[in-house]
Amino acid sequence: MSQTLQAVRGMNDILPDEAETWDVFEEIVRSWLRSYGYRPMRMPLVEPTPLFKRAIGEVTDIVEKEMYSFVDSLNGDELTLRPEGTASCVRAVIQHKMLHAGPQRLYYHGPMYRHERPQKGRYRQFHQIGVEALGLAGPDIDAELILMGARLWDDLAIDDVRLELNSLGSADERARHRGALVDYLQAHHDGLDEDGRRRLHSNPLRILDTKNPELQSLVEAAPKLIDFLGEASMAHFEAVQQVLKDAGIPFAINPRLVRGLDYYNRTVFEWVTDSLGAQGTVCAGGRYDGLVEQLGGKPAPAAGFAIGVERVLALWRASGETTERMVPDAYLVHVGDAAGRLAFRVAEDLRACGFDVLMHCGGGSFKSQMKKADGSGAELALLIGEDEAAAGEVSLKPLRGGEQQRISADRLADVLMDRLLQVEEDDGGI
Ligand code: ATP
Ligand code: MG
Repeated sequence: MSQTLQAVRGMNDILPDEAETWDVFEEIVRSWLRSYGYRPMRMPLVEPTPLFKRAIGEVTDIVEKEMYSFVDSLNGDELTLRPEGTASCVRAVIQHKMLHAGPQRLYYHGPMYRHERPQKGRYRQFHQIGVEALGLAGPDIDAELILMGARLWDDLAIDDVRLELNSLGSADERARHRGALVDYLQAHHDGLDEDGRRRLHSNPLRILDTKNPELQSLVEAAPKLIDFLGEASMAHFEAVQQVLKDAGIPFAINPRLVRGLDYYNRTVFEWVTDSLGAQGTVCAGGRYDGLVEQLGGKPAPAAGFAIGVERVLALWRASGETTERMVPDAYLVHVGDAAGRLAFRVAEDLRACGFDVLMHCGGGSFKSQMKKADGSGAELALLIGEDEAAAGEVSLKPLRGGEQQRISADRLADVLMDRLLQVEEDDGGI
């Protein structure tokens, strides 16, 4: 026997019980995004490799070691499975000259690919919801992006998240800080780990983001970028904080929050939880004013964030998420040829009226079909036997108690509608 094939390590199947929760989540997310005026975008999963090298930065974890890159065997093009969406989104915005029409509020969602060591909350195929606001320079849009996060946690009844905030200033300010940082790190060269020594000259800011516990006190005492911010950057940062204060959103300034991607400037933020273990960042983002120009567009400011869907769903579950399994309104049981033909007609008529109908397929006795009807979770079984078929009628059997009744197939949709309204009234609805 040949060996059974398995999914690629770190890439997960999402089976129906879980995928139904994803569907509910995505509906909540779509209506949340609409309420802020964001419009959908869909970009390819595969992009030219140079896009990510240029946008994310050569000396980042993602570009150095996490990308799934390959050469197109037909034409030799260097391609990469997207590790994130911002670069693709900005590429598309430039390519289609979307900023000619004014600022754009955009979102996308879908799988991203990074060759990391798989563990809880860290996968090789994972999903992000990306939200980008392009063409807007002020602190108001940074604040809006942050308020959006707070509203989503509220919509999902998640309360175990906190907001961390920092400012990365401008390129000049970062350069001055970088000088001081390199001096400091050089003076403490012996205390650095291998990664730190390697990054000392290529990307010293990233050393501040180290996860190595032995380096914590060293990086805590390092020169802070915030002390190098000029007046304009400081005013921007303070204006963002003012909106958050006005909205009653608590935050902590974390001077070591530098983000793993090179394109950020000024405001950066992360929404973090303590209830998921080490992989606690559920949403991260910030301003990236240089990226549009860096990718060949006319200079334009921009800011955005990405939500890690697997992590938010895990948090939602931990907060008591209770989406119910989807059940049909009715299960259609039928025995005999004439009954089968009437059953098809009845099922289609009901669906045309908006009902969810599960039609029994595969034959079997009334008894075995009724078992399936019970197991389906439907409120009602609709029965069609030879008698009913001959009379053009359907027997309607409530599966959670109540009288069975026989109705003409032509009146079935009306009767079901009345029953549904009745159930909603009993449940305290309309
Ligand atoms: P981390 O520090 O956890 O590696 P990151 O800085 O690489 O995160 P971003 O590139 O900012 O993450 O991506 C935004 C969000 O996407 C993260 O906050 C996280 O929620 C999620 N995410 C990133 N990488 C993964 C992954 N490999 N598996 C699952 N979710 C991920
Ligand atoms: Mg990472």
